[in-house]
Amino acid sequence: DALVAGIKSSHIDSVLARETERFVATHPRSAALGQKSRAHFPDGVPLHWMTDWGTPFPLFVAKAQGASLTDVDGNRYRDFCLGDTGSMFGHSPEPILRVLAEQGGHGLTYMLPTEDTPAVGELLAMRFGLPFWQVASTATDANRFALRWARAITGRPRILVFNGCYHGTVDETFLRLDADGGAIHRPGLLGQVTDIATVAKVVEFNDLEALEAALADRDVACVITEPALTNIGMVLPEAGFLDGVRRLTRATGTLLLIDETHTISTGPGGWTRAHGLEPDFFVVGKAIAGGVPCAVWGFTAAVAQAMKAARARTGPGHSGMGTTLSANALAMRALRANLEQVMTPAAYAQMLAMSEGVERGLRRIIEVRSLPWHVSAVGARAEFVCGPTPPRNGTQAAKAMHGPLEAAIHLYLMNRGVLIAPFHNMTLTCPATTIADVDHLVATVAGACDALISGVE
Ligand code: PMP
Repeated sequence: DALVAGIKSSHIDSVLARETERFVATHPRSAALGQKSRAHFPDGVPLHWMTDWGTPFPLFVAKAQGASLTDVDGNRYRDFCLGDTGSMFGHSPEPILRVLAEQGGHGLTYMLPTEDTPAVGELLAMRFGLPFWQVASTATDANRFALRWARAITGRPRILVFNGCYHGTVDETFLRLDADGGAIHRPGLLGQVTDIATVAKVVEFNDLEALEAALADRDVACVITEPALTNIGMVLPEAGFLDGVRRLTRATGTLLLIDETHTISTGPGGWTRAHGLEPDFFVVGKAIAGGVPCAVWGFTAAVAQAMKAARARTGPGHSGMGTTLSANALAMRALRANLEQVMTPAAYAQMLAMSEGVERGLRRIIEVRSLPWHVSAVGARAEFVCGPTPPRNGTQAAKAMHGPLEAAIHLYLMNRGVLIAPFHNMTLTCPATTIADVDHLVATVAGACDALISGVE
């Protein structure tokens, strides 16, 4: 009986089988809706990611409020997934509700600016420290547009990513290192007709030597990274790493894009403000407008100047950037309300306190049971990883991911009223998260661990 991260694989199988049966028995309406939806949606879902939860069929949601979500069968969940960050400030916060009601009667999208524009600019500049901004509908778009500008400004063809990164579905970021250190397309990538290695480079996170070598040719327009990798388990930067990234990018005329879409969990100004980073481009999406589709990207005065020069060089015509619904009236109003009234220091104080409780509880579970696991955290985001030591880079982090083990835990939690982000073991707290929510999460993870260790319920 092989051990997977300290757990017998036969136990993983039996927990998975038992919990699958339980899920089927308690979710008949989800099952029926899944079946019905299959008539016109492959696998019964409008976005194929919705089948990636490890459930035997997709969970259909009836409603959510604050930190609580209810499915169509009436099962209630304490929500620590929060739409994988999209609802990080809680489901339907009051100020966003008011925006929806007000703007609903005034038209939603005009492809023209509104009175909120100067106020939003000021709020973004004050909060994140960059003087100039643009608004997009998704973090994917914001990253894509910023990277395109970086190429236009520098005239360089490549971008550089860290192994194991995720920045949305931006083509050139889907480069990975293979076991021999060669650059390959991310496994599973569909329809990729050009060789990404011709327009991007990839090195390991926390490896300044490799970064220095990769930037030496001065053919990289922009390095794009999260301050800590959060999409392959969690990889924290070692002391001096982010400073080194800034130093090396500056020394080679390479721009630096910090993607704070997930690490905005750090505090009101993200990791950038908490740790004094100095990016050329700054991106944050998902939760920035309280769950209304919206993303923002900021840039320095020097970049703004260089943009003008690039425009003048290129001449008039279509920029290849923007989407029709970007910065629509509803998104701008929600963005303003979220920055002014929802993403407040008081909200963060609550989120961070609750997440500390999660972190402490998870650490204790691991310690008491001597599991070869660990916990990493970035502010209101915690992750328990089924490997003994915190990984230094994407390759090590990938080795600590164990599909069936994680699926068994997720299903066990869902069957007991807890949602955490699929794909990995990430928890988020929102301003509405309570101590009772945290206690329930921790007790349920403990129950899952005991079931996996003993093989019985
Ligand atoms: N950047 C980061 C760091 C992300 O984690 C994600 C999504 N997980 C994105 C960008 C893309 O966000 P979206 O899917 O909303 O475009």
